[in-house]
Amino acid sequence: GERGNRMSTVKRVTVIGAGTMGNGIVQTAAQHGMEVRIMDIDETSLERGVDRIRKNLRSMREKGKITSDQESAALERIRKATDIGDAVSGAELVIEAVPEEIGLKQRIFRDLDRLCGEGVILGSCTSGISITSIASVTGRRDKVIGMHFTNPVPVMKGVAIIIGLETSEATIEFTKTFLAEMGKEFWVTKDLPGFAGTRIMSVYINEAFNVLQEGIASAEDIDKEFRLVLGHPMGPLELADFAGLDVILNSSEYICAERGEKYRPSPLLKQLVAAGYLGKKTGRGVYTYK
Ligand code: NAD
Repeated sequence: GERGNRMSTVKRVTVIGAGTMGNGIVQTAAQHGMEVRIMDIDETSLERGVDRIRKNLRSMREKGKITSDQESAALERIRKATDIGDAVSGAELVIEAVPEEIGLKQRIFRDLDRLCGEGVILGSCTSGISITSIASVTGRRDKVIGMHFTNPVPVMKGVAIIIGLETSEATIEFTKTFLAEMGKEFWVTKDLPGFAGTRIMSVYINEAFNVLQEGIASAEDIDKEFRLVLGHPMGPLELADFAGLDVILNSSEYICAERGEKYRPSPLLKQLVAAGYLGKKTGRGVYTYK
């Protein structure tokens, strides 16, 4: 295949946070010919993230999706860092992929703004936090942009680009080039609470929990209807378990606070989260996993 053999115009990318999204972005960028630095504040998470990439690439090679040259070339393009200054030196683009907390993200963007050269574009992979509010703490509001990737990043085809109030055309164009070179499709969404996808999904997933709570249909049947009738790969409750019930609840609470009653999280969703049933990652959510 031609994957990874092509020269990219975006050559140096840094990703802050080596978790689920961070390591997926790093893997994808490295596979498409970019030099990538991966940074995490926690050494164990950094190692775990890079390990995940190694395993994914090995499994792709074993399945014949990439050659062993492509596997080793991608790995050679990845450098680890625990210091944010080392991590960003020489980068054209920095993508933040730390947990979904506005204070944490603003702290990191303040640091990035101080440490990165003038022309460097700063991206965030937030699922719902306002890009405008993240950009507001920097001296380069025009160069801050959202890239809403979907898990697993190396597999999922589409990325929503989120534009803040002051994001410039040049930044949007740069981001489109970067995503195209990553092999992704994209679309542009304005920066209002829940953007497009998250806002719509919030209502649809919450309503599935309400229907379940009212005993109108079983979890299996709700999901079956969406798979068989609408052709969704996962029904709303399976999707909630996959994404993490805590993640869905946080985002619904935020959209509800900003947009009102229609987005109020389902009491059943809240109860499951209170019990620590967070979905696949804890072995139990709506469903139980081995
Ligand atoms: P995660 O918890 O898997 O990873 C976050 C990583 O950030 C951790 O390894 C943590 O050690 C690290 N980190 C914490 N503080 C840091 C700091 N100060 N500096 C550097 N690293 C730090 O989280 P995730 O699921 O990858 O989510 C990251 C972002 O992507 C969030 O904003 C989330 O809303 C968004 N997002 C997640 C998904 C998903 O399905 N997981 C989908 C779309 C968007």
